[in-house]
Amino acid sequence: MPRTKIVATIGPASNSEEMIRTLIEAGMNVARVNFSHLSEKQQAVEVVGRLRKVANEMDYPLAILGDLQGPKLRLGKITDDWMEVIRGQKLIISAEGAPDSIPFPHPELFPAITPGATLVLGDGEVELIVSSCEGLTMEVQAAVTGKIGSRKGVSLPGTSLPVPSITDKDRIDIVTICELDLDFVALSFVRSADDIWELRDLMSEYGKNIPIIAKIEKSEAIEELDAIRDAADGMMVARGDLGIDLPPQEVPFLQKRIIRTCNEVGKPVITATQMLQSMVDNPVPTRAEATDVANAILDGTDAVMLSNETAMGEYPERSVKMMRDIAAIAEENFPFEEWNERRRKMLYERRGDVAEAISSSAVGAARYLGLNAIVANTVSGYTARQVARYRPEQPVIALTPVEATRRRLNLVWGIETLSVPRYNSMDEIFHNTTSFIAKSGLFKPGDRIAITAGTPFARTGLTNLLQVHEFTAEEFEE
Ligand code: PEP
Repeated sequence: MPRTKIVATIGPASNSEEMIRTLIEAGMNVARVNFSHLSEKQQAVEVVGRLRKVANEMDYPLAILGDLQGPKLRLGKITDDWMEVIRGQKLIISAEGAPDSIPFPHPELFPAITPGATLVLGDGEVELIVSSCEGLTMEVQAAVTGKIGSRKGVSLPGTSLPVPSITDKDRIDIVTICELDLDFVALSFVRSADDIWELRDLMSEYGKNIPIIAKIEKSEAIEELDAIRDAADGMMVARGDLGIDLPPQEVPFLQKRIIRTCNEVGKPVITATQMLQSMVDNPVPTRAEATDVANAILDGTDAVMLSNETAMGEYPERSVKMMRDIAAIAEENFPFEEWNERRRKMLYERRGDVAEAISSSAVGAARYLGLNAIVANTVSGYTARQVARYRPEQPVIALTPVEATRRRLNLVWGIETLSVPRYNSMDEIFHNTTSFIAKSGLFKPGDRIAITAGTPFARTGLTNLLQVHEFTAEEFEE
């Protein structure tokens, strides 16, 4: 399997035990449950139950990510559900049912909308320019010819809107996500680090601290990228909405920036949306899509994501396999040399940081000594992530006594995981690691590995031990 991780969205095309099994076999590492499409708690309970059942049967550490809808704005219901608009046509949009108007049931937003503002519908299929806005009704003019549909998503790029980051629906879904103890929760339309803290506080009321993936899809988030990264546990380059709030031509560079921001600290980053979009209907991707997936991997993404392709497409299995195959070739051509230089630079920039020195040294030693693997003992996953962020050529194997850590590391580039008993002393770390690894069948006498760990074990964020071990024949006889 390639080292880049694959997130697949579960939907009508993949919500069966048989298809979940097929997708895991094809290479799905993380299943995304999109709460935008779930209106009842029972639906979430059922899909998560199905995912867990299959993963348990396969003894596979499948991670489950619950993606909150966030403050997604939508039109109301339109007569006949569709209407054609012609460029230049004038229309009325109203929250109070003005005659012949298109309903937009968000009265609280109207005071913030000024003439000249743009309403973008869907993924940009229709653009409406506001001519006037009075009370709860506005007049708009179509900038392009297109179709408007009932409940279409609405974005107002450049307009700062008084919407809560966590909606009433999200609050209900957060309780469900906590009750189901999912592995990740993704927060949509994040604007500041405070949004992340608010979600963390809400989860703590239910005794949970589920790692938060901040979806970067607003211009405000770009301005606060480092603070959001520091508050969150990972990020998603949510290119769909990002390319509406900011011009699509900026997305490639924002993607690189967001990925790099996460790489710097070893927090996982997912590149999402329209990666293999044409495979919703076609058995092969466009050449542009294949190139896009490979480029995201070369940028340093931890994971690539499938949305409609696996949720409602004709070819969910082929989409995951295609992702896997593109990743395998991208990794054959991965610029490991360049990343090694980056590692050396980071080490220099972070003089005095113990975790930096140890994880960097493990990767450096693996290169210098031609080791066969880097083995990271980890409870929270931190030590393994610190190693993987340098993109070492050697396999990174994380040994952990915590099953949730195994699942969560399944989102991180290059990490394979094995379960081990909990350690209580440094002697146990080195002795048990080598005997455990010898039994794994992955190595032979004469192979050499770097072993990293952090002590004391109960504390996260410490990577302070490094040993190089050469396997002897006796170790395989034990
Ligand atoms: C996106 O906008 O790219 C995205 C991933 O968000 P969602 O699919 O939840 O709208």
